[in-house]
Amino acid sequence: MRSASDHEAGMQLASYACRASNSRGRAVAEPPPRDRSDYQRDRDRIVHCGAFRRLEYKTQVFLNHEGDLFRTRLTHSLEVAQIARSIARGLRLNEDLIESIALAHDLGHTPFGHAGQDALAACMRARDADGGGFEHNLQSLRVVDRLEERYAAFDGLNLTFETREGILKHCSRRNAQRLGDVAARFLQGGQPSLEAQITNLADEIAYNNHDIDDGLRSGLLELDELEAVPFFGGHLHAVRAAFPKLAPKRVVAETIRRMIAALIADLIGATEARIADAGVASLDDVRAAPPLAAFSAPVREQLSALQRLLRAQLYRHPQVVRSTTKAARVLRELFDAYADDPRLLPREHQAVDGRSRWRGVADYVAGMTDRYAIREHRKLFSVQDW
Ligand code: MG
Repeated sequence: MRSASDHEAGMQLASYACRASNSRGRAVAEPPPRDRSDYQRDRDRIVHCGAFRRLEYKTQVFLNHEGDLFRTRLTHSLEVAQIARSIARGLRLNEDLIESIALAHDLGHTPFGHAGQDALAACMRARDADGGGFEHNLQSLRVVDRLEERYAAFDGLNLTFETREGILKHCSRRNAQRLGDVAARFLQGGQPSLEAQITNLADEIAYNNHDIDDGLRSGLLELDELEAVPFFGGHLHAVRAAFPKLAPKRVVAETIRRMIAALIADLIGATEARIADAGVASLDDVRAAPPLAAFSAPVREQLSALQRLLRAQLYRHPQVVRSTTKAARVLRELFDAYADDPRLLPREHQAVDGRSRWRGVADYVAGMTDRYAIREHRKLFSVQDW
């Protein structure tokens, strides 16, 4: 039988990495797992939960029904986990923990991507100005702490403190006061583990690169627009020079592959330098230091230029805006219908058990997949399908 420390010895962790054997534990105490570490147990619980499976039918940028090759929240989360693990290995951080955080980071995302989240946040503000609003990080934590109902002995997944801390990327002071220990850093200052910090940036590496890929595939982004951005242009020219006869699709794939590799290498190098400069030797040092995970200044600037282009050309493309406007309307109308008359909700969602009535509606709507939301909207509003 292998213990948590055996697993971690196999990883040859840095002195400042998280160790399951030193975990701050779970809200409800449980016997230690037998053949895996506590962070592996977290990951396994996440993979088996219903909210994880629903990610398959939730929008990343392109609505789920717009095409089979576009990223969904599920494939996005898998890409984040892959990138985060590569970085973790380079920095000798805890790969099991980083995988748990990555796979759970979007569990609370609404249907229809950011348009859905913004619509739901506006609905909550309008109904309940003091209720804490709606924020997808916080919702991811609600999913794993409370909303999943799979275990006899506790609500939620009863994950370790370190996985929960990593899920909660940001949070208002007001919400932090309600959340206790896991949000203490938003009141008292301090940083989360490096595993949490790195997952955040792995998320950024993943979505910037896959949005370029999906943007080009959809025809909403043009190659020459991207070529004008030095970071993309530089890698593109290198690929074309090395493989002059390569088919355009493979040129794009090879360019993106090189960008991901370059970003990972830069992040590892720049983070190592900051760890050394700050004299960080332990997890407590990580928590007390300024943020340590970062790209180098020039790469950060290049990435920002790429993000500006994606915002202007892709996220604000009329075709994307048309889709997201429609999606936001669907969510708003669903929320208002349920909030005005809770009898429209399925029975099990009518009991609010300590939640405000609005929070119960937000939990239900946020949990929907794109197509479930569209179906429910049709059932409530369509006269043709009556
Ligand atoms: Mg994400």
